[in-house]
Amino acid sequence: VKHQVDLLVSGGIVVTMDPARRVLDDGAVAVDRGHIVAVGPAAEVESSVVPKRRLDARRKILLPGLIDAHAHAGHTLFKTLGAHLPSREWLRITGEAYFHATTPKSWSADGRLAALERVRFGITTGVMMLGNEPRTDDPVYGQAFARASASVGGRTIVSVGPASPPWPRRFTRWEDSDARPREVRYEESLGVTEELVRTLHGADGGRTRVMVGPSYLSVPVSRTISTDPSLAGVAAATARDMRTLADRYGVFIHTHAYGRELEYAEEHFEGYLGPDVLLAHCTGLTEREIAILAERDVKVAHCAKAHRAYTERCPVPELVDAGVTVAVTSDASAPDRTFDLFETMRSAQRLQRVYFRNASVLPPGTMLESVTIGAARAVGIEAEVGSLEPGKRADLVLVDTWRPHMVPALAPIWQLVMGAVGHDVTHVFVDGAPIVQEGRCVTVDEDEVLREAEDEARHMVERAGLEYLSVLGSGFWGSSGLAGAH
Ligand SMILES: [Zn+2]
Repeated sequence: VKHQVDLLVSGGIVVTMDPARRVLDDGAVAVDRGHIVAVGPAAEVESSVVPKRRLDARRKILLPGLIDAHAHAGHTLFKTLGAHLPSREWLRITGEAYFHATTPKSWSADGRLAALERVRFGITTGVMMLGNEPRTDDPVYGQAFARASASVGGRTIVSVGPASPPWPRRFTRWEDSDARPREVRYEESLGVTEELVRTLHGADGGRTRVMVGPSYLSVPVSRTISTDPSLAGVAAATARDMRTLADRYGVFIHTHAYGRELEYAEEHFEGYLGPDVLLAHCTGLTEREIAILAERDVKVAHCAKAHRAYTERCPVPELVDAGVTVAVTSDASAPDRTFDLFETMRSAQRLQRVYFRNASVLPPGTMLESVTIGAARAVGIEAEVGSLEPGKRADLVLVDTWRPHMVPALAPIWQLVMGAVGHDVTHVFVDGAPIVQEGRCVTVDEDEVLREAEDEARHMVERAGLEYLSVLGSGFWGSSGLAGAH
């Protein structure tokens, strides 16, 4: 008996990422009502279904949708602006712009542009912290962002929570061209965080989700708490409040963490670290911290292209060997990168290969896991997506291999990780619905998204008074750059 199905993708190399990590040379995937109903050799699947729609996958690789488990909203409109500045200065400038020069329209434009870039690069699920540190003085910003991101059709996980102490903190709301600065108390920010969880988690047919968390696991311990011991109390209260929200709503905790912060959290924040905690960066970890991550099943988002990765190492191979779930992530499309996760996988490999002086470290298979099934585990949705298996949601990506940099297909999965770029993605489906077809997004008017982003970015830059950052400074051409920032 043949079953009628909505879609059959057939004839390509199917990289299932299932528990056996099956790779089918001439495979097919059948989709019905948003779910995968069959995965197998093309001849076998073809003989069991009658598709309403069929897609020829010959000379293509079929993959589960990629998952980018850590990035920042806001950065998408900032792009490379100020990329010549030292990291800390860049973070200060962008952070101020997000808190004082953005409107709901800025976040909406940022959300659509980021979602568009991500789906065009084969990313079907993307985590977004709402700013450098979350902008949670009012729920309108997060809601505008999430609504816009969802309109593109992919999955978005918005991460919100209180910004760093000391509180109260100042935020600016714009009404037309009037700036209205306001002092916001910690309790208000906490209330906005909860409001965003209640209004956004599970919205858009489950494609929008929320994570909660402050900006840092424990307020950078070495730098801050030691110089201002009163911050320890704030950090502990925040940890307690985030744990309460996470438990109450069944959402993940997501924040940044660096070496010594984990030891500190383990010692001072009882019951905080657990399998529903996703920590970004994790550079400079001690051996004990690697053991804590493994023991508590805490997830790691490795930001292989972040500036921090140049100065301090995230011990990815050691984490993998310890059994820790590691996602390789973009950490946003600024100041010096894009959302392209193919490129990010290679960055992750090279960082470790230089360190260990060993070109075999982090093989392509482990890298592919870190942006598919492993990343799905890292954000807690591995039961639904992350691999091509019957019963899972149909988030599919097709990568064109009939291109000069991808031919010959002698070792296609190696080539996928070592050679592919985001623009090799030709088709993307989320919940079985077409999002990208023949390399173009079909859910939104791409030109309109780009125009809106261009306009809103300029408005933000103007409100923040940052036009000067576009000027190429002295030392831009012909210098080594070793003397400092240019
Ligand atoms: Zn980050």
